[in-house]
Amino acid sequence: MTSGRQPVYRGRIAPSPTGHLHLGHARTFWIAHRRAESHGGVLVLRNEDLDRDRVRPEFVDAFLEDLWWFGIRWQEGPDCGGPHAPYSQSERVELHRDALGRLQAAECVYPCVCSRRDIQAAVRAPHAADDEPVYPGTCRCRPVDAIPAGRPVSWRFRVPDGEVLTWNDGGQGVQTRVAGRDFGDFVVLRPDGVPSYQLACVVDDHAMGITEVVRGADLLVSTARQILLYRALGWEPPAFFHCPLMTDEHGVRLAKRHAALSLRTLRGTGADPERLRAAF
Ligand code: GLU
Repeated sequence: MTSGRQPVYRGRIAPSPTGHLHLGHARTFWIAHRRAESHGGVLVLRNEDLDRDRVRPEFVDAFLEDLWWFGIRWQEGPDCGGPHAPYSQSERVELHRDALGRLQAAECVYPCVCSRRDIQAAVRAPHAADDEPVYPGTCRCRPVDAIPAGRPVSWRFRVPDGEVLTWNDGGQGVQTRVAGRDFGDFVVLRPDGVPSYQLACVVDDHAMGITEVVRGADLLVSTARQILLYRALGWEPPAFFHCPLMTDEHGVRLAKRHAALSLRTLRGTGADPERLRAAF
């Protein structure tokens, strides 16, 4: 027998208000809901609204309504509050910047002047099909004082090239990714001061006491990146459970362009959520 109490299961769902959710999101979030329920735990809803170019406030109301309609229940979130408020990432940027300060002090990150599209895009979760190419390391060895004062920089995390990262994924079994080959140095802060998805996700999952992250299998590479961030920040990573992706009849991952499969549309046509869930 072991002494001590098992930590309470704390899961989370983390929708981005950049469009209507579709059936693929609903399935992943339904799995998250069921796993929290079966562990007698708590499900947190976090509003991932850092991508200010694409976020629209009406999509927050829409996802709250659509998820509720679908049968997903959460115990903490932007609508109902909770001990880890605020639950919208745009209100948590100070926490993200504190973590960045620690990474800077430990020299785990470096300033980068490359103006690449992936710096813009870093605020979004990079789903497999739109994941960034491995960064060639242009700014890796540039002395900080070689950058003209006042020039906007992004900050990149320096990955340990060649290190094999392994974890036992609850949904996909043992996973292995190699730093520097499967992914390169990644952005943690954009030049406009917006934290990247990778940094914000780790900081918030840690601060909210999340014990298991349930999300789509297209984020497996991001999990490897995030394991490195946990380590650099001295935090224990949560367990990970990646769900298989839902595809359309051509095998293409569902995206916001699959309007017919949006929860909003399904709801409008009188679909029965119980029957939709039964088909998962
Ligand atoms: N907001 C992210 C997305 O919608 C969530 C990714 C995650 O669950 O970590 O893709």
